[in-house]
Amino acid sequence: MAGESQNKAAELLRQLEQGVQQIMSSEGWARYLQTQARFRRYSMLNTLAIIIQRSTATRVAGIRTWNELGRRVKRGEKGIAILAPISVRASKDDAGAKEADEEPRVTRFRVVHVFDIEQTEGQPLPQTPAQRLGTSTEAGRELYSALLRIAHEDGFPVLPEVELRPGVNGEADLVARTIRLAPGLSEDHRARTLAHEIAHLWLHQIGGDRADQEAEAEGTAYVVASWAGLQCDGYSFGYLASWAHAKDGAAIVRRVGATIQKTAARMIDRLTPEEDARETA
Ligand SMILES: [Zn+2]
Repeated sequence: MAGESQNKAAELLRQLEQGVQQIMSSEGWARYLQTQARFRRYSMLNTLAIIIQRSTATRVAGIRTWNELGRRVKRGEKGIAILAPISVRASKDDAGAKEADEEPRVTRFRVVHVFDIEQTEGQPLPQTPAQRLGTSTEAGRELYSALLRIAHEDGFPVLPEVELRPGVNGEADLVARTIRLAPGLSEDHRARTLAHEIAHLWLHQIGGDRADQEAEAEGTAYVVASWAGLQCDGYSFGYLASWAHAKDGAAIVRRVGATIQKTAARMIDRLTPEEDARETA
Protein backbone atom coordinates (compact mmCIF):
# COMPACT_ATOMS: atom_id res chain seq x y z
CA MET A 1 0.00 0.00 0.00
CA ALA A 2 1.32 3.44 -0.84
CA GLY A 3 2.03 6.01 1.89
CA GLU A 4 -1.30 7.71 1.40
CA SER A 5 -3.24 4.49 1.86
CA GLN A 6 -1.19 3.72 4.97
CA ASN A 7 -2.19 7.05 6.48
CA LYS A 8 -5.79 6.29 5.56
CA ALA A 9 -5.57 2.87 7.26
CA ALA A 10 -4.06 4.44 10.38
CA GLU A 11 -6.87 7.00 10.40
CA LEU A 12 -9.48 4.23 10.05
CA LEU A 13 -7.90 2.36 12.97
CA ARG A 14 -8.17 5.48 15.10
CA GLN A 15 -11.85 5.80 14.16
CA LEU A 16 -12.38 2.13 14.95
CA GLU A 17 -10.92 2.46 18.42
CA GLN A 18 -12.94 5.62 19.09
CA GLY A 19 -16.10 3.98 17.81
CA VAL A 20 -15.66 0.93 20.01
CA GLN A 21 -14.99 3.22 22.96
CA GLN A 22 -18.16 5.21 22.24
CA ILE A 23 -20.36 2.15 21.94
CA MET A 24 -19.01 0.68 25.14
CA SER A 25 -19.97 3.84 27.00
CA SER A 26 -23.40 4.22 25.35
CA GLU A 27 -26.74 3.56 27.00
CA GLY A 28 -27.73 0.94 24.44
CA TRP A 29 -24.60 -0.99 25.21
CA ALA A 30 -25.23 -0.85 28.95
CA ARG A 31 -28.74 -2.21 28.39
CA TYR A 32 -27.39 -4.98 26.19
CA LEU A 33 -24.88 -6.03 28.83
CA GLN A 34 -27.47 -5.95 31.58
CA THR A 35 -29.56 -8.38 29.54
CA GLN A 36 -26.59 -10.62 28.78
CA ALA A 37 -25.82 -10.80 32.47
CA ARG A 38 -29.28 -12.26 33.08
CA PHE A 39 -28.32 -15.38 31.19
CA ARG A 40 -26.01 -16.98 33.63
CA ARG A 41 -23.41 -19.46 32.56
CA TYR A 42 -24.37 -23.06 33.12
CA SER A 43 -22.12 -25.82 34.37
CA MET A 44 -20.79 -28.36 31.90
CA LEU A 45 -23.31 -30.92 33.16
CA ASN A 46 -26.27 -28.55 32.80
CA THR A 47 -25.07 -27.41 29.39
CA LEU A 48 -25.11 -31.06 28.32
CA ALA A 49 -28.56 -31.50 29.85
CA ILE A 50 -29.84 -28.51 27.88
CA ILE A 51 -28.32 -29.70 24.60
CA ILE A 52 -29.70 -33.22 25.05
CA GLN A 53 -33.22 -32.00 25.80
CA ARG A 54 -33.31 -29.15 23.29
CA SER A 55 -30.49 -29.12 20.78
CA THR A 56 -31.58 -25.81 19.22
CA ALA A 57 -31.51 -23.85 22.49
CA THR A 58 -29.64 -20.55 22.28
CA ARG A 59 -30.79 -18.43 25.24
CA VAL A 60 -32.03 -20.23 28.31
CA ALA A 61 -33.51 -18.82 31.51
CA GLY A 62 -36.12 -19.54 34.17
CA ILE A 63 -39.70 -18.23 33.98
CA ARG A 64 -39.05 -15.40 36.40
CA THR A 65 -36.12 -14.06 34.39
CA TRP A 66 -38.14 -14.22 31.17
CA ASN A 67 -41.00 -12.35 32.81
CA GLU A 68 -38.64 -9.66 34.07
CA LEU A 69 -37.37 -9.28 30.51
CA GLY A 70 -40.93 -8.71 29.30
CA ARG A 71 -41.42 -12.19 27.81
CA ARG A 72 -43.79 -15.03 28.65
CA VAL A 73 -43.38 -18.77 28.23
CA LYS A 74 -45.78 -19.92 25.50
CA ARG A 75 -48.69 -22.14 26.46
CA GLY A 76 -47.89 -25.85 26.38
CA GLU A 77 -44.11 -25.51 26.29
CA LYS A 78 -42.22 -28.12 28.28
CA GLY A 79 -39.36 -26.89 30.45
CA ILE A 80 -35.77 -28.09 30.18
CA ALA A 81 -34.77 -29.81 33.41
CA ILE A 82 -31.45 -28.80 34.93
CA LEU A 83 -29.92 -29.18 38.38
CA ALA A 84 -29.72 -26.09 40.56
CA PRO A 85 -27.50 -26.03 43.63
CA ILE A 86 -29.32 -24.95 46.79
CA SER A 87 -27.92 -24.38 50.22
CA VAL A 88 -29.90 -26.26 52.86
CA ARG A 89 -29.66 -26.59 56.61
CA ALA A 90 -27.76 -29.69 57.61
CA SER A 91 -29.87 -32.26 59.44
CA LYS A 92 -29.90 -32.48 63.25
CA ASP A 93 -27.73 -35.58 63.10
CA ASP A 94 -24.92 -33.64 61.52
CA ALA A 95 -22.31 -32.76 64.08
CA GLY A 96 -21.28 -29.24 64.95
CA ALA A 97 -24.60 -27.37 65.16
CA LYS A 98 -24.26 -25.33 68.32
CA GLU A 99 -25.70 -21.88 67.73
CA ALA A 100 -28.43 -20.88 65.33
CA ASP A 101 -26.27 -18.50 63.29
CA GLU A 102 -23.57 -21.11 62.97
CA GLU A 103 -25.91 -23.77 61.66
CA PRO A 104 -24.01 -25.83 59.14
CA ARG A 105 -25.39 -25.69 55.64
CA VAL A 106 -24.73 -28.11 52.83
CA THR A 107 -25.18 -27.82 49.11
CA ARG A 108 -27.83 -30.06 47.60
CA PHE A 109 -29.18 -30.14 44.10
CA ARG A 110 -32.74 -29.89 42.97
CA VAL A 111 -34.34 -30.06 39.56
CA VAL A 112 -35.49 -26.74 38.15
CA HIS A 113 -36.95 -25.99 34.74
CA VAL A 114 -35.68 -23.42 32.28
CA PHE A 115 -36.95 -22.39 28.85
CA ASP A 116 -35.27 -21.50 25.59
CA ILE A 117 -36.04 -18.10 24.04
CA GLU A 118 -37.90 -19.89 21.22
CA GLN A 119 -40.35 -21.18 23.83
CA THR A 120 -41.15 -17.63 24.90
CA GLU A 121 -42.86 -14.61 23.34
CA GLY A 122 -43.03 -10.91 24.08
CA GLN A 123 -40.61 -8.02 23.92
CA PRO A 124 -37.50 -8.50 21.78
CA LEU A 125 -34.24 -8.61 23.70
CA PRO A 126 -31.88 -5.66 23.28
CA GLN A 127 -29.29 -6.47 20.63
CA THR A 128 -25.80 -5.18 20.03
CA PRO A 129 -26.14 -1.91 18.13
CA ALA A 130 -26.59 -2.56 14.38
CA GLN A 131 -26.43 -6.33 14.17
CA ARG A 132 -26.90 -6.31 10.43
CA LEU A 133 -25.88 -3.97 7.67
CA GLY A 134 -29.04 -3.31 5.74
CA THR A 135 -27.67 -1.75 2.60
CA SER A 136 -26.80 -3.18 -0.79
CA THR A 137 -24.61 -0.91 -2.86
CA GLU A 138 -22.67 -1.22 -6.09
CA ALA A 139 -19.48 -0.91 -4.02
CA GLY A 140 -20.64 -3.84 -1.87
CA ARG A 141 -21.33 -5.99 -4.92
CA GLU A 142 -17.93 -5.20 -6.44
CA LEU A 143 -16.07 -5.80 -3.20
CA TYR A 144 -17.85 -9.12 -2.72
CA SER A 145 -16.92 -10.45 -6.16
CA ALA A 146 -13.30 -9.28 -5.79
CA LEU A 147 -13.07 -11.03 -2.40
CA LEU A 148 -14.62 -14.16 -3.88
CA ARG A 149 -11.83 -14.19 -6.44
CA ILE A 150 -9.19 -13.86 -3.68
CA ALA A 151 -10.79 -16.73 -1.70
CA HIS A 152 -10.81 -18.83 -4.87
CA GLU A 153 -7.14 -18.05 -5.64
CA ASP A 154 -6.19 -19.04 -2.09
CA GLY A 155 -8.14 -22.29 -2.27
CA PHE A 156 -10.87 -21.39 0.24
CA PRO A 157 -14.25 -22.69 -0.94
CA VAL A 158 -16.99 -20.16 -0.15
CA LEU A 159 -20.40 -21.65 0.64
CA PRO A 160 -22.98 -18.86 0.50
CA GLU A 161 -26.48 -19.21 1.93
CA VAL A 162 -25.78 -21.77 4.66
CA GLU A 163 -28.10 -21.78 7.69
CA LEU A 164 -25.85 -20.93 10.64
CA ARG A 165 -26.59 -20.58 14.34
CA PRO A 166 -28.89 -17.60 15.09
CA GLY A 167 -26.99 -14.32 15.08
CA VAL A 168 -24.01 -15.76 13.18
CA ASN A 169 -23.46 -14.16 9.75
CA GLY A 170 -20.41 -16.07 8.65
CA GLU A 171 -18.01 -18.78 9.74
CA ALA A 172 -14.45 -19.69 8.81
CA ASP A 173 -13.60 -23.35 9.30
CA LEU A 174 -9.94 -23.23 10.31
CA VAL A 175 -9.48 -26.96 9.71
CA ALA A 176 -11.36 -27.53 6.46
CA ARG A 177 -10.28 -24.06 5.24
CA THR A 178 -13.79 -23.23 4.05
CA ILE A 179 -16.02 -20.19 4.53
CA ARG A 180 -19.76 -20.31 5.16
CA LEU A 181 -22.03 -17.29 4.82
CA ALA A 182 -25.55 -16.98 6.24
CA PRO A 183 -28.49 -16.51 3.86
CA GLY A 184 -30.29 -13.21 3.47
CA LEU A 185 -27.34 -10.87 4.01
CA SER A 186 -27.35 -7.56 2.15
CA GLU A 187 -24.61 -7.12 -0.47
CA ASP A 188 -22.61 -4.84 1.80
CA HIS A 189 -22.91 -7.16 4.75
CA ARG A 190 -21.93 -10.19 2.68
CA ALA A 191 -18.78 -8.39 1.44
CA ARG A 192 -17.79 -7.28 4.93
CA THR A 193 -18.37 -10.79 6.31
CA LEU A 194 -16.31 -12.41 3.56
CA ALA A 195 -13.39 -10.03 4.27
CA HIS A 196 -13.69 -10.97 7.97
CA GLU A 197 -13.61 -14.73 7.27
CA ILE A 198 -10.70 -14.48 4.78
CA ALA A 199 -8.72 -12.62 7.46
CA HIS A 200 -9.42 -15.49 9.89
CA LEU A 201 -8.09 -18.05 7.41
CA TRP A 202 -5.02 -15.97 6.63
CA LEU A 203 -4.13 -15.30 10.24
CA HIS A 204 -5.49 -17.81 12.69
CA GLN A 205 -5.04 -21.25 14.13
CA ILE A 206 -7.36 -23.23 16.36
CA GLY A 207 -6.80 -22.52 20.03
CA GLY A 208 -5.70 -18.90 19.63
CA ASP A 209 -7.11 -16.11 21.76
CA ARG A 210 -10.68 -15.66 20.53
CA ALA A 211 -11.11 -11.98 21.42
CA ASP A 212 -7.83 -11.05 19.71
CA GLN A 213 -8.72 -13.15 16.67
CA GLU A 214 -12.12 -11.52 16.32
CA ALA A 215 -10.62 -8.05 16.77
CA GLU A 216 -8.04 -8.77 14.05
CA ALA A 217 -10.60 -10.21 11.62
CA GLU A 218 -13.24 -7.51 12.18
CA GLY A 219 -10.64 -4.73 12.22
CA THR A 220 -9.35 -5.94 8.85
CA ALA A 221 -12.90 -6.18 7.47
CA TYR A 222 -13.65 -2.68 8.72
CA VAL A 223 -10.57 -1.12 7.10
CA VAL A 224 -11.06 -2.99 3.80
CA ALA A 225 -14.81 -2.30 3.60
CA SER A 226 -14.35 1.38 4.50
CA TRP A 227 -11.60 1.65 1.91
CA ALA A 228 -14.03 0.25 -0.67
CA GLY A 229 -16.60 2.90 0.30
CA LEU A 230 -18.94 0.81 2.46
CA GLN A 231 -20.50 2.24 5.60
CA CYS A 232 -20.00 -0.32 8.31
CA ASP A 233 -19.04 1.79 11.32
CA GLY A 234 -22.05 0.84 13.43
CA TYR A 235 -21.76 -2.84 12.75
CA SER A 236 -17.99 -3.19 13.19
CA PHE A 237 -17.86 -0.99 16.28
CA GLY A 238 -20.63 -3.00 17.92
CA TYR A 239 -19.12 -6.34 16.99
CA LEU A 240 -15.70 -5.36 18.27
CA ALA A 241 -17.15 -3.90 21.43
CA SER A 242 -18.79 -7.24 22.20
CA TRP A 243 -15.40 -8.98 22.12
CA ALA A 244 -13.38 -6.13 23.59
CA HIS A 245 -15.70 -6.19 26.59
CA ALA A 246 -14.26 -9.54 27.68
CA LYS A 247 -10.73 -8.28 27.28
CA ASP A 248 -9.10 -4.88 27.55
CA GLY A 249 -11.84 -2.69 26.06
CA ALA A 250 -11.19 -0.39 23.11
CA ALA A 251 -7.44 -0.70 23.73
CA ILE A 252 -7.68 -4.09 22.02
CA VAL A 253 -7.83 -2.22 18.70
CA ARG A 254 -4.52 -0.51 19.41
CA ARG A 255 -2.90 -3.72 20.63
CA VAL A 256 -3.73 -5.72 17.50
CA GLY A 257 -3.62 -2.61 15.26
CA ALA A 258 -0.36 -3.52 13.51
CA THR A 259 -1.77 -6.90 12.46
CA ILE A 260 -5.00 -5.28 11.26
CA GLN A 261 -3.08 -2.73 9.24
CA LYS A 262 -0.78 -5.31 7.63
CA THR A 263 -3.63 -7.71 6.82
CA ALA A 264 -5.85 -4.95 5.43
CA ALA A 265 -2.97 -3.69 3.26
CA ARG A 266 -2.43 -7.20 1.91
CA MET A 267 -6.13 -7.61 1.12
CA ILE A 268 -6.44 -4.18 -0.52
CA ASP A 269 -3.38 -4.89 -2.69
CA ARG A 270 -4.98 -8.10 -3.88
CA LEU A 271 -8.28 -6.35 -4.65
CA THR A 272 -6.68 -4.33 -7.43
CA PRO A 273 -4.52 -6.79 -9.39
CA GLU A 274 -4.91 -5.12 -12.80
CA GLU A 275 -3.51 -1.83 -11.57
CA ASP A 276 -0.54 -3.62 -10.00
CA ALA A 277 0.12 -5.43 -13.28
CA ARG A 278 0.06 -2.17 -15.20
CA GLU A 279 2.42 -0.50 -12.74
CA THR A 280 4.98 -3.27 -12.94
CA ALA A 281 4.66 -3.73 -16.73
ZN1 LIG B 1 -14.85 -14.05 13.34
